[in-house]
Amino acid sequence: MTAPAQDPADAWHLRFEGFDPAEEGVREVLCAVGNGYLVSRAAAPESSADGVHYPGTYLAGVYDRAVSVADGRTVENEDLVNCPNWQSFSFRPADGDWFTGPPAEQRMDLDLCQGVLTRHALVVDAQGRRTRLVQRRIASQAQPHLVVLETELLAENWSGPLEVRSALDGTVANTGVARYRGLTSRHLVPAGQGLDEDGTLWLQVATAGSPLHIALAARTRVTPPALHRSSRLREGWAAELLTLDVTEGRPVTVEKTVAVYTSRDPAIDAPLPAARRLAAQAPGFERLLVEHALRWAELWRRCRIEADFDGATALHLNLFHLLQTYSEHSVDLDVGIPARGLHGEGYRGHVFWDELFVLRLLNLRFPELARAVIGYRHRRLDAARSAAREAGLRGAMYPWQSASDGREESQQLHLNPLSGRWLPDHSHLQRHVGSAVAYNVWQHYQATGDLDFLATTGAEMLLEIASFWSSAATYDPTRQRYSIRGVVGPDEYHDAYPWAGRPGLDDNAYTNVLASWVLARALETVELLPGYRRDELLERLAIDRTELDRWQEVGRRLHVPFHDGVISQFDGYERLAELDWTAYRRRYPDLQRLDRILEAEGDTVNTYKASKQADVLMLCYLFSPRELRNLLRHLGYPAGHELLRRTTDYYLRRTVHGSTLSAVVHAWVLTRADRQRSWRFFRDALSSDLLDVQHGTTAEGIHLGAMAGTVDLLQRCYTGLEIREDTLWLDPHLPSALGQLTLDLRYRGHWGVRIAVDRHTVTVSLRESRQPPVQVAFRGSTTAILPGRSHTFSL
Ligand code: BGC
Repeated sequence: MTAPAQDPADAWHLRFEGFDPAEEGVREVLCAVGNGYLVSRAAAPESSADGVHYPGTYLAGVYDRAVSVADGRTVENEDLVNCPNWQSFSFRPADGDWFTGPPAEQRMDLDLCQGVLTRHALVVDAQGRRTRLVQRRIASQAQPHLVVLETELLAENWSGPLEVRSALDGTVANTGVARYRGLTSRHLVPAGQGLDEDGTLWLQVATAGSPLHIALAARTRVTPPALHRSSRLREGWAAELLTLDVTEGRPVTVEKTVAVYTSRDPAIDAPLPAARRLAAQAPGFERLLVEHALRWAELWRRCRIEADFDGATALHLNLFHLLQTYSEHSVDLDVGIPARGLHGEGYRGHVFWDELFVLRLLNLRFPELARAVIGYRHRRLDAARSAAREAGLRGAMYPWQSASDGREESQQLHLNPLSGRWLPDHSHLQRHVGSAVAYNVWQHYQATGDLDFLATTGAEMLLEIASFWSSAATYDPTRQRYSIRGVVGPDEYHDAYPWAGRPGLDDNAYTNVLASWVLARALETVELLPGYRRDELLERLAIDRTELDRWQEVGRRLHVPFHDGVISQFDGYERLAELDWTAYRRRYPDLQRLDRILEAEGDTVNTYKASKQADVLMLCYLFSPRELRNLLRHLGYPAGHELLRRTTDYYLRRTVHGSTLSAVVHAWVLTRADRQRSWRFFRDALSSDLLDVQHGTTAEGIHLGAMAGTVDLLQRCYTGLEIREDTLWLDPHLPSALGQLTLDLRYRGHWGVRIAVDRHTVTVSLRESRQPPVQVAFRGSTTAILPGRSHTFSL
């Protein structure tokens, strides 16, 4: 996709000139407005889902389960529901046709600083009547149940009666992803609509497979006042028709304020009365705008990151969408972080391991949000326990894809659009997702130092995940090592041995090393817990001394395969064939979906040493070189700097980066070894969505892991920031394109730990507070920095 107009001097605006049907889907996602409760795509208000436009609105946690038939098989899927379209709005001169787009001219401007989307358009009808349109849209960050569309209409060369239609459309379906269109897409059933005497238009729908109600109430104000108002109501659709008298050159304004509630919401009686009340009481747009902008100012203060490079718009955009997907308004909704945001239907709004990439950032900015995400996992611990039990194992086995109740939501079949074939999907064998949950627990504890968190919820999860690994590991007497068999690593291209009749691989290095780390952290946690809490937890989880001894034993003796002087992605990897990269690169300009290409050719990617994304190298992303060497030594493998360098080179040459996460990981891994290449990966990852690097997937939703991951690269990777042993460790390595970098972090009760790095120094400053000093380690020595003080280290 072509880059949107960006003015480097104004890194807080994203602008699009004109209308391009081919790029409309991407633009709708990039300009979406949201607040952590809901996100609405920036579809033209006059449009409907027509193959070009897709006016989707998604509410955090609103899923629906439905049965479909795919390739003659019955499958069940739970989808993030496309909720009623609250934006629906059109107009016409009384004797003309309703405007359905596209306009003759259009300019979109997303103000990232204040969270306002503005559209300037010119509409010319068949009679040559020219009407200028300025539309502003917000999803309030101050009152998350309110969304507003304000339209100013200016008749340029005509006067006369104008009709406006402002609707709530509950007849929408989930048709945003072409690959899923053969599956059940209707998730809403009508549950009433009407226009109240006070002028409140309302609509209620329920989800088809579960008793969840969604209510919308709209208040439409017109200035100058309308001559006439009436309603049009039918099942699942409610509209108000307003007739205005317009005079050439004099603007009229229509303000549509919509309140949205669902039966999942806390602190209400029922969604419809709550929506009606709020719509009636809501202040006018200008007031709402002030409150909304104030909240955005707060958010940006917490997210302060200043980097002197020309990618600041992309950086702001990535943070903007993170803050719109998960915010303080998500905290009490019992929701996780969907990998594709709340911006589209890609991956059905499911939650994956991607939160690992997000929480590393949030822990040091909004620890309460990170904790809420962990809470989502904790409330699904029982589901994970059941899954482990059903697999004949102990502890907790978290699902690869999770949605409302924490059961495994990975699809059983997926469609290869290149061949048209439905294929079995084994991605649920990515058991490493549980270790990601454990990693998030530990990182949160490190960042906050909150022992109560660990003792109440964190430890329970960590210990159950450790139990799972301990029971999944089987002893191989020949090798005298433990193995974890039948799994899939982060590289989803490899889900089976080409010579085996069963899915899954044995001893995926990433899975095993991380399992060993989980076992060690679980043992450390047992030591850390206050005495009687430890006893009670071990009793509750039925973990005895023998089991703890087994954790020691398994944690030290898990098998890690090696070949050709590198860590093998999994046992037997060396037996795979080399792909003829030159031939494939010649034939296909883009190899990101090599799996689909090979399958369409009647081959399988499982045969080859070719990876979709970082797998072994994920270890270098999660752990510093020193930590990783120690982990491998703990497992009894001599590991030096050379091993990691060779392993990096080896896999880099064989990876197609078919996941946007891959560029984030490689940027990280190469920071020290190859700064320029690291920076190139960073730039690629930074613009994953802005440039729709996967050619079409951004229209199905943002890639939140990559968005957050790029900010975290600046925050922790290029500053060399680590949190361990109650200390902030710094070791900056600025890429040559970056002259300076300034961050404000939250750390252990300190609000505003400023870290400023330039070519020669790194300065840590603390705001005044009553918190204890912060220990900062730099090049082998530790300095205690007091509140209100700062310290500069020379590089
Ligand atoms: C990647 C996974 C990721 C998922 C959701 C896939 O393409 O391979 O690692 O979790 O997308 O973002």
